[in-house]
Parts: sequence; structure tokens; C-alpha cells
Amino acid sequence: MVPYPRFSFCRLLALFYTLYFCLSSTVLIMLRSNSVFQRLVRQPTTRFLSSSRSLLDAPSSLRNLTEEEGMMREAAAKFASSVVAPKVSEMDEREATDPSIVKGLFEQGFMGIETPIELGGTGASFTSAILVVEELAKIDPSISVMCDVHNTLVNTVFRQYASQELQQKYLPQLAESKVGSFCLTEAGSGSDAFALKTRAEKKDGYWELNGNKMWITNSGEAEIFLVFANVDPSKGYKGITCFVVEKEMGVQVMSKEKKLGIRASSTCALNFDNIKVPAENVLGEIGKGYKIAIEILNEGRIGIAAQMLGLAQGAFDCTLPYLFQRKQFGHEIGNFQGMQHQYSQIATEIEAARLLTYNAARLKEEGMPFITEAAMAKLYASQVAERTTSKCVEWLGGVGFTRDFPAEKFYRDCKIGAIYEGTSNIQLQTIAKQIALKYKN
Ligand SMILES: Cc1cc2nc3c(=O)[nH]c(=O)nc-3n(C[C@H](O)[C@H](O)[C@H](O)COP(=O)(O)OP(=O)(O)OC[C@H]3O[C@@H](n4cnc5c(N)ncnc54)[C@H](O)[C@@H]3O)c2cc1C
Repeated sequence: MVPYPRFSFCRLLALFYTLYFCLSSTVLIMLRSNSVFQRLVRQPTTRFLSSSRSLLDAPSSLRNLTEEEGMMREAAAKFASSVVAPKVSEMDEREATDPSIVKGLFEQGFMGIETPIELGGTGASFTSAILVVEELAKIDPSISVMCDVHNTLVNTVFRQYASQELQQKYLPQLAESKVGSFCLTEAGSGSDAFALKTRAEKKDGYWELNGNKMWITNSGEAEIFLVFANVDPSKGYKGITCFVVEKEMGVQVMSKEKKLGIRASSTCALNFDNIKVPAENVLGEIGKGYKIAIEILNEGRIGIAAQMLGLAQGAFDCTLPYLFQRKQFGHEIGNFQGMQHQYSQIATEIEAARLLTYNAARLKEEGMPFITEAAMAKLYASQVAERTTSKCVEWLGGVGFTRDFPAEKFYRDCKIGAIYEGTSNIQLQTIAKQIALKYKN
């Protein structure tokens, strides 16, 4: 005979588990749709990552974006394809950025992505900035680098190191209408950045700047310049100080460099000839400019990785459809195994570059060490960009070699990824240093 009480116990247990499962699922769904949760999700800061992850108790994939990040990415993709795309080849030919696009970047909130809302910015996350840079680069790496330098270098230096007064004065201008430049490199100091010679001398109530900078991105459009100058060369790199210099203080912008790629992006030399900079325009501490430069370039590299990633994806996206239109030997060329293996390999490398880049961005946001990962992301993404664009030109055959297809432009544009914000050798050195720290006794 079936013992009735035992059967009942099993059923009760099953019922209990069913109820428990339904209840916990409902609570989770409610939490996900709850506005507080949504607000947390919109803030992918340490607070979000620690609180929401512990809430769900499950780490998420690197493809998982917050609602805000998704919206920023979508807005950037739309802006890039509808506003930037029609002007790309004309800007490349003219070697100049169309002012209407610069205006559009400001109107869209892409020039103050992490700037707090109360200072006129968008108040979004670092990852949002990375996604915007990536999306813009899919269409035009020149526009992408303008946005990248302005946000991840200039705005971030103000947010992280400037006094309240300087932030209140300049961040709204940088978010709303004025382009910024980051001026470190000189003719004699590139990789060895701290060998810079620009001098700042203390006078009565102001600093006098004298010297030259080279290769300065955005300098054709910029009105606000972060200039690194030495206040006391006898102290070596410990004399390097960061100054906020407005164009109208007397910055002389020389003619644009004639470049291989990112030709629409302005890259000029600058002259500072007895420029008077108000005493209060020292950004951060006197003699701590080297620290600002090192720290900001460490995270800026994630931006360049995003630019190279977007560039690679952009080249891939505009090339692949052709492989399924073009027929040779009676077949679509994309169906030949020799081609399939190549584009599968490149797609895999682009995905790897994406994961390195997003991971470095998330580490930075979480307040975790990210220097090695950022260097790896930039190094690898720039290599992938070179391989991808080279393959895209090849896959397109003869037309790939013409200016009728965007592949040749991406091919020219990608080379800069191995040069600025630390050459590939410098990235390898950074990675090597961290490895040695770990394995040396
Ligand atoms: C288009 C463009 C935009 C730029 N924008 C900016 C900007 O906005 N602001 C700014 O401050 N700078 C900017 N730069 C400058 C850029 O950061 C430098 O060009 C870069 O750091 C390399 O310096 P360099 O050109 O003097 O080359 P060098 O330092 O002379 O390097 C030449 C070669 O030597 C190698 N090398 C040097 N030192 C070592 C070493 N210790 N070990 C191994 N190899 C080494 C390098 O890897 C490279 O291959 C820009 C440059 C370009 C081309």
C-alpha cells in the first residue's frame, strides 16, 4: 500500500520548490524592471558593478551594456551613418573636418560624455565614451579621434585633476562649443615625452610660456589647449606642469601636416611665444604634470583601441557584402573556402580586439588595475586594424585599390594606431614591465 503521508510529503516538497522557483523568478523580474534597478543599471560605475552584480550574483558578458550605454552607442551609430558618412570622402580629399560635423558632435552630447550634467555634459560612463569612439570610427576614424582626444584626454584631465574653479569654468565650454587639444609631444620628445623643452616661467601674477609642440590633434579647431611645460628644468621631469591655455592668449597654430591617413583630422605644430597664462590656470599641482600625462595616456589608450576596433569593424562591414555579390568562376567569391577561412579569421580577431578593449574599459570603471590590459588592447586592436584593412583591400580586388570604396581609406587610416598615444614598441615595453614585476624576484 502506498503510504499516503509520504506521497503527500513529496508532493508538498515539489509544490514548495515550484512556488519558491516562481516566487524568486518573479522577484528577479520585478527587480530588473524596478526603477531603482534601472537607475543603477544606468550608472555603470563601481557602485553599479558591485551592487547590481551582487544583486544578481552573476557576472555578465563583456557584450552586456547598460541601457544608457546602449542608447549612447545607438545615437553615435545613427549620427555617424546619417551625418558623417555623406561627408567622409570629401573631408578626406580636402584634408579638413566639416565644421557642421563638429557642431553636431557638440549638439549630440558627444563632446562631454563623462562631464557631469550640472556642468553641461552628458553625465555618462567611460564605457559610453568608448562605444561612441568605436561607432564613429566605423564610419570615419578622423571624427572618432577628435571625439576621443577631446573626451578621454582633455575632459578627463579637467575632471580628475583640475580645481573646482577650473572645472566650473572650462568643462561647460568643452561640453558645449569649444574643442580641446592635448599638447605633450615636441620635435625632440616623442616616446621620450618628458624630455620636453617648452618652458613656463613664473612672473608677477602669471606664467610666461615659450616653446613649440608638434603633432597636436584637433589643433586646427581647438580653442582650449592643455599644455605641458617645464617650470624648472633643473628638476627634470619633476618640473613638468600642466597649463590651461586659451587660443586667444596667443597660441600660434602652424599649417596642417600632410598625412597618410586620418587626413580630415587636423594635426599641427604650435608655437608659444611669450604667452601669458593666468596663475590660476595651472592644472593640478606644479611639478606633477608628468603624473597627469602618464595616468591620462594609460586610460587614453583604451580610446585608441576603440578607434582601431571601430575602424576594423567598419572596413569589414563595408567589404563583406561585396564578397556575396561578386562572382568569379560562376560562384560568389565569398563562398570559396580560401576566402571563408580568411574572413572567419579576421572576424575572430576583431572580436578578440573588442573583448580586450571592453575589458580594459570595465576594469578602469571598476577601479581595478588596467594599465597592462589597456596597453594590450591598443597594441592588439591596432594590429587587427592593419590586418583587417589590408585583407579588405585584397578581398575587393582591383576596386579595393581605388577611392570608390572606403577600404583604401581605412587602410591608410589604420597606421596611426601603432604610433600615437604611445607607439606599439612603447605598449610592448609597458606590458613587459608589468610581466617583469610579476615574475622577477
Ligand atoms: C597624427 C598624429 C597625431 C598626434 N596627436 C598628438 C596629440 O594630440 N598630442 C600629442 O602630444 N602628441 C600627438 N602625437 C604625437 C605622437 O604621440 C608621437 O608621434 C608618438 O608618441 C611617437 O613619437 P615620435 O613621433 O617622436 O617617434 P619616436 O619616439 O622618435 O619613435 C620612433 C620609433 O622608435 C621607436 N622607439 C622609440 N623609443 C623606443 C624604445 N625605448 N624602445 C623601443 N623602440 C623605441 C618607436 O616605437 C618608433 O617606432 C600625434 C602624432 C601623430 C602622427
